[in-house]
Amino acid sequence: MTIRKEKLETYKKQLLERRETLASELRQKTASMIEDDVVYSDSVDQASAETDKALAVQMKNRDQGILIQIDAALRRIDAGSFGECQECGESISEARLQAFPFTTLCIDCKAALESEEHRFPGKV
Ligand SMILES: [Zn+2]
Repeated sequence: MTIRKEKLETYKKQLLERRETLASELRQKTASMIEDDVVYSDSVDQASAETDKALAVQMKNRDQGILIQIDAALRRIDAGSFGECQECGESISEARLQAFPFTTLCIDCKAALESEEHRFPGKV
């Protein structure tokens, strides 16, 4: 199955919009993290600020990870390999692509990967 060109353009638009939203959120988070350093001064607030900061860093890393995936998806659109599972080479269903346009795995491979992660916790 080849994805129609119009469909690809839609995915591309979605990905670019998502990328823009994420990038601006990341900028805001980074800015508020810098502010936090100044605002919190006593030790209790400092401790909760540290926790908040750790969480913020975690979310920031996750968002950055998604940004990287979005960029990779955009490159796949240009290369013409968008919508192919990187594991088995089968087409990824359109329903799945609509929900996660930056996914690289079909639902079967994703499920297989997750059950493997379940069997070997901590394995990347
Ligand atoms: Zn697959």
